[in-house]
Amino acid sequence: MKGRELPEDLKDAVCCLKCRKVGVDSVRKKLPGVPKNYDRCQICKSYAYRYGDIWTSPFLFVFATVLVSWSMQASYGDFEYPVRTNLVWTLIMCGVYLNNVSKKKKVRRLIEDHMRKNILDGEQS
Ligand SMILES: [Zn+2]
Repeated sequence: MKGRELPEDLKDAVCCLKCRKVGVDSVRKKLPGVPKNYDRCQICKSYAYRYGDIWTSPFLFVFATVLVSWSMQASYGDFEYPVRTNLVWTLIMCGVYLNNVSKKKKVRRLIEDHMRKNILDGEQS
């Protein structure tokens, strides 16, 4: 296998970590309140992931944290702003970020296994 980049079509394939399968049948659902969709595996009904959809950019993470704390601060106006709220939010964002990073790694490994298996199958036939 050449290079570390995954093929574009596999980046968009729905992967189920529970079934350990790439390209599972899934239902696309809307997440209430936020402009984001999520996928659910049709076989085991658990969350499924698209590699390209998992955000792990530190820049995005910092940007979102700053944006939220700024808008919180603005909504408090002249009242004393609780620093603790900011801290809690930052911790939540850290958690989401780390969770995404580990999930992306797992999905990547799954896709790489899938590719390796495909290559073996191709050689046998
Ligand atoms: Zn599944």
